[in-house]
Amino acid sequence: MTSIANPPAEATTATAIRPGQLFIGGAWETVPDRRRPVIDPATGSEISTIAEADADDVARAVRAARQAFDAGSWCGLPGRARGRVLLAAAALVREHREELARLESLDTGKPIMFSRMIDVDTTAQMFEYYGSLAASIEGSVRSTAAPMMAYTRREALGVVAAITPFNFPLVLSVSKIAPALAAGNTVVHKPSEETSLTALRMADLLTEAGVPAGVFNVITGGSEAGRALTEAPGVDKVAFTGSTAVGRAIAAAAGQNLQHVTVELGGKSANIVFADADVHQAVTTAINGFVYNTGQFCMAGSRLLVERPIYDQVVEAIAAAAEHVPVGDPLDEGTVIGPMTGPRHLEKVRAFLRRAAEDEVRVLGPGASWESDTAGYFARPTVLADVAQDSPFVQEEIFGPVLTVQPFDTEEEAIRLANDTPYGLAAGIQTADVTRAHRVAAALQAGLVWVNGWGVLDVAMPIGGYKASGYGRECGPEGLDEYLQTKSVLISL
Ligand code: NAD
Repeated sequence: MTSIANPPAEATTATAIRPGQLFIGGAWETVPDRRRPVIDPATGSEISTIAEADADDVARAVRAARQAFDAGSWCGLPGRARGRVLLAAAALVREHREELARLESLDTGKPIMFSRMIDVDTTAQMFEYYGSLAASIEGSVRSTAAPMMAYTRREALGVVAAITPFNFPLVLSVSKIAPALAAGNTVVHKPSEETSLTALRMADLLTEAGVPAGVFNVITGGSEAGRALTEAPGVDKVAFTGSTAVGRAIAAAAGQNLQHVTVELGGKSANIVFADADVHQAVTTAINGFVYNTGQFCMAGSRLLVERPIYDQVVEAIAAAAEHVPVGDPLDEGTVIGPMTGPRHLEKVRAFLRRAAEDEVRVLGPGASWESDTAGYFARPTVLADVAQDSPFVQEEIFGPVLTVQPFDTEEEAIRLANDTPYGLAAGIQTADVTRAHRVAAALQAGLVWVNGWGVLDVAMPIGGYKASGYGRECGPEGLDEYLQTKSVLISL
């Protein structure tokens, strides 16, 4: 039995963010009797409560967003005026960087250095990016066969329901909220019931930035609240990130209601290491790819495909290096792997590892023989070597720090194995051959391909899935297009 490097101290930061409250129509409403505990995953102790919104709460929030949209107080503003508000929001996020980072770490278990550098800084960048793009939302003049003045207008969709998962609360909220608001929509946001604190805090920051009442609303709660939100009359678009199972249900309901919908779903992304790659760099990249955010990353490089001549060397190096990745208190500056966000996530990983033991899979790395001796939800990196392509370890999303490794002999085989799962979110190619990198990148069925690296994202580059990883794009100008519709105006001359 191994202990974690630095057992977490009792949570000392003020984490009771608007306990039991919902933000509707620019005001906080207290829900007296329907509450859900907020658990610090590093200690298992309760640090706050959130409200469990019911269908009436949800309907009120949607009505507030509808009224704000119809009143035109937001969509009627020039784009650059909306942009100024988003730039003010970015400045407030930067001002509150430390507070937001600590909140995110306590709520999710993320190591504090990542909460600052990735979650909070990306949130500020996203407001800046879409705040700047808001000024350039414009149609175009077209030349027509008949004598006409013909032009297009780019207009907001209306009320957006933004529903997000537990693993990147700030980033996945802002990647919907910022473009939706930039385009002139109003928003009802339902964060994950497991990690709602920063969404609640964001309501106050957006109000301070100048977002008018009713334009941004937050309701908290679980699947019931989520379902009520997608079914509420008056929602024009559902922007969803989460599991493929829930995404399918949401896309089906949106089809029935003829709502706009984007679904950013699960992944099982393959990282291909060719024998000509820089092996040291490939090993480091592979480890970061599967342990980052304790493997709770939709784009985790959870499947490693290694060309046979270097297969044994790479497997051994990863299993050995994984021993040294610091696991511990998320608020400790040196921690690289924090706890999993909740007991259901830890139990899912354990169930896969039990199955691997039953199936006599070769299990390597510190997770192979480790049991947690704390009340927190800690897991350690685990490598499953020589797994079969049709096994659940390769085909299903484990969503924890677990890596499968398989050998391949030819480029064609690597591409076939990489593409042979239901998912298509991301992929990686580690090689010294630039021509091959382009060729393989084109052949991979994934919305994003990294060459000689893993995990670097940029607000200017679109993210989204192929196949069961969903459809729609977030980030980049494509992320703004998802919140706009086009009107043609034809004037007879
Ligand atoms: P989840 O699908 O369980 O929940 C996501 C959100 O949907 C939560 O807010 C939840 O309350 C809500 N919800 C649940 N049932 C609902 C319903 N019937 N109707 C409406 N809303 C409902 O996902 P999770 O466990 O929170 O997140 C993990 C999943 O998210 C993984 O599959 C991961 O790959 C995926 N994910 C994808 C991306 C991406 O960009 N593609 C990013 C992060 C996470």
